Amino acid sequence: ITIGEVMPKVIALFNQKGGVGKTTSAINLAAALSECKKKVLCVDFDPQCNLTSGLNIDRRSVKYNVYNCIVDNVPAKDAILNTAYENLDILPSGIDLAAAEIEMTSMKAREFLLKKKIEEVKTLYDYILIDCAPSLGLLPINALGAANSVLIPIQCEYYALEGVSQLMSTINLVKRSINPSLHIEGVLLTMFDSRTNLSAQVVEEVKKYFKNKVYKTIIPRNIRLAEAPSYGQTILDYDIASKGAKSYISLAKEIIKENEKNG
Ligand code: ATP
Ligand code: MG
Repeated sequence: ITIGEVMPKVIALFNQKGGVGKTTSAINLAAALSECKKKVLCVDFDPQCNLTSGLNIDRRSVKYNVYNCIVDNVPAKDAILNTAYENLDILPSGIDLAAAEIEMTSMKAREFLLKKKIEEVKTLYDYILIDCAPSLGLLPINALGAANSVLIPIQCEYYALEGVSQLMSTINLVKRSINPSLHIEGVLLTMFDSRTNLSAQVVEEVKKYFKNKVYKTIIPRNIRLAEAPSYGQTILDYDIASKGAKSYISLAKEIIKENEKNG
């Protein structure tokens, strides 16, 4: 590392289970980090394009998306767009990404396609967040190959830990084969409902399994978080006073503090 060069933290939001809060967390954590004066890039690595539309970008109006970057080798800088937030950029997705999983299997160094693209723009950012698709296939493997660490969102509901052993096997496989320094950034409990015993039980179970890897910040179930994307807004714009906004700001601070401690 040359002196003065800033290395960003690349974090993949990964859980093969659908609907656990990966995209909601990617958008709102990114917004909260950017609010804390960090330069942030969000990568939408899911053909559902929820992160892209949540940040108010119409995927049909996008010239190049992350698919064009990894499959056609379009430079990342040609696909990255500014958002309504000064410190927050996005590498958008497109529905063609769904085909990439198959197309990539015949490509050279297919596990490193996203990593290569992120390296092109790495020095421009403090944090790069990659929103993964709910799968254990080549797309998430590429995200884990490109990342320094993994943030695992877990929903506070029945069977919260179901699938966690597969998730851990995938992380360990990537560690052994393509990315030895990959580690768990943290485990984020989402959609916590303080009125139910179930939520509290899930918190205990997850803490037993992941120990000190679980963030102190717990994201509450908050209708404002679910409403915001349909207005193309992050929670900071949609309702800054909401519990949801406060929780993502608290998470951003927790992550920044931890990273600054570890240098
Ligand atoms: P997928 O695996 O399909 O990509 P995901 O893990 O990205 O899903 P989200 O899209 O973030 O999950 O969330 C699933 C649904 O739950 C969405 O409708 C979202 O608005 C809602 N949701 C997420 N977090 C919360 C929350 N804390 N409170 C209330 N609703 C939430
Ligand atoms: Mg998602």
